[in-house]
Amino acid sequence: MAATKYIFVTGGVTSSLGKGIISASLAKLLQARGYHVTIQKLDPYINVDPGTLNPYEHGECFVTDDGAETDLDLGHYERFLDVQTSQANNVTTGRIYQSVINKERKGDYLGKTVQVIPHITDEIKRRIKLLGTRFNYDVVITEIGGTVGDIESLPYIESVRQLKWELGQGNALVIHLTLVPYLAASGELKTKPTQHSVKALLENGVQPDILVLRTEHTLNKDLRKKVALFCNVELESVIESIDVKTIYEVPLLMQAEKLDETVLRKLNLPAGSPPELKPWKSMVKKLKNPKRTVRIALVGKYVELQDSYKSIIESLTHAGATNETKIDLNCIHSETISADNISEKLAGHHGIIVAPGFGDRGIEGKILAAQYAREKKVPYLGICLGMQCAVIEFARNVLDLKDAHSTEMTRMTLHPVIDLMEEQKGVTEKGGTMRLGGYSCDIKPGTLAFKIYKEIHIRERHRHRYEFNNDYLSQFESHGMIASGINPDSQLVEIMEQPEHPFFIGVQFHPEYRSTVLNPHPLFINFISAAVIYLGEKAAE
Ligand code: GLN
Repeated sequence: MAATKYIFVTGGVTSSLGKGIISASLAKLLQARGYHVTIQKLDPYINVDPGTLNPYEHGECFVTDDGAETDLDLGHYERFLDVQTSQANNVTTGRIYQSVINKERKGDYLGKTVQVIPHITDEIKRRIKLLGTRFNYDVVITEIGGTVGDIESLPYIESVRQLKWELGQGNALVIHLTLVPYLAASGELKTKPTQHSVKALLENGVQPDILVLRTEHTLNKDLRKKVALFCNVELESVIESIDVKTIYEVPLLMQAEKLDETVLRKLNLPAGSPPELKPWKSMVKKLKNPKRTVRIALVGKYVELQDSYKSIIESLTHAGATNETKIDLNCIHSETISADNISEKLAGHHGIIVAPGFGDRGIEGKILAAQYAREKKVPYLGICLGMQCAVIEFARNVLDLKDAHSTEMTRMTLHPVIDLMEEQKGVTEKGGTMRLGGYSCDIKPGTLAFKIYKEIHIRERHRHRYEFNNDYLSQFESHGMIASGINPDSQLVEIMEQPEHPFFIGVQFHPEYRSTVLNPHPLFINFISAAVIYLGEKAAE
């Protein structure tokens, strides 16, 4: 077994340049050349995981099959690579300190002063190397969150410096992602921020091997030469990353820039055959050449920040490409929806999604959206809280249980159609205590769910505390809303649907965490197909 090679991806100048996308694109290219590769994200904040963060702070919380609440970049990794990540793929400063402090309390460092260097950096290095050795990867790509120069990134950069030295040339390299801004007034692209950013890295003892430059305009040879000269990198190691319409084009761009070849050469790895990217290219082609457009409403309360619904939006993109349909997504803030304006807000949409969420802010708007979809027969996909809202709506308006609610919103409701799970009743701590990760679900044949999944045993990822209250199930089923998916071990309801409706389905789990470019999720594919049918019907009216 050859030793694992390590690639570190750092960022400079500003945040949000897309380190996650560059890391995922490079990983995709290496994978397409036959390498066994994984990506890891190191986040410099003190939270042990992002599970307790408001989506406004850090975007969506991505959930892995093993039940880890992680950074949304892991979603990109899974969508690009089509392989699952786990708890080990996302490490935060909080988790690093937690393990060092636990060891200190156990007495592992007896007699020693516990310090950032070497104890924290050793723990960071251990976590990086563990991923490579435990799973025998050929290449581990480690993305360092934050921007070079941040105080909180320092221990990570120092760990990279040490590891690069310890592993030796040809076994590790650093890719630094920066921005080349364009000054419209003088019509110039500027390299100074990149030079400064590389200087900041050098001050910490790290010489980048490859520079990836984000830019709005093509970089000419002279500019590349200038960057190479001032930043001590080879000319071929200055890679352009120009803005593109879809993130799924980035692997193709990186291939054109020979990022993969340069990386393999520097790591003394054979280039192998050219990457097999046919299915990927065909998906990008479909994405860029849609035959029609459907308008989808995404009703949620974190709509100001699109990253809050990253996986849902990407799943819709995959399903749109599969259906050769452009998705015109309209994010609607559920707090702005009322009984008076609902028709106006939702008119003209061919499908409605009610998003996951927590707490009662904006809940009535979501319930109204579910009612609108049911009554007007618009395709509906309720995800987690979106399924719960559809249940509450049905209870209130069809079963006539006027004050039906979830006990999350109204603790003493007379009709708790959505209630706290038994195992959650004694839970007081918030971090990592929900029903998290993959659970099985058995699907009833003959249902819409079965038509979608085409199988009986499925497994989907969860992130919730509340669930459908089975005491009400027979009432629901006799009035037209049935449970079509059940967890075989706990009997918890996983899927509810309305057979009289052309497409009305609510799922307690999160299908969006499993949709990938090459394996789009069947729920989203079928939801978009239903929207396309609805579009056709509307046009015929
Ligand atoms: N707040 C709901 C619960 O905890 C739904 C969670 C979600 O939508 N992820 O059950």
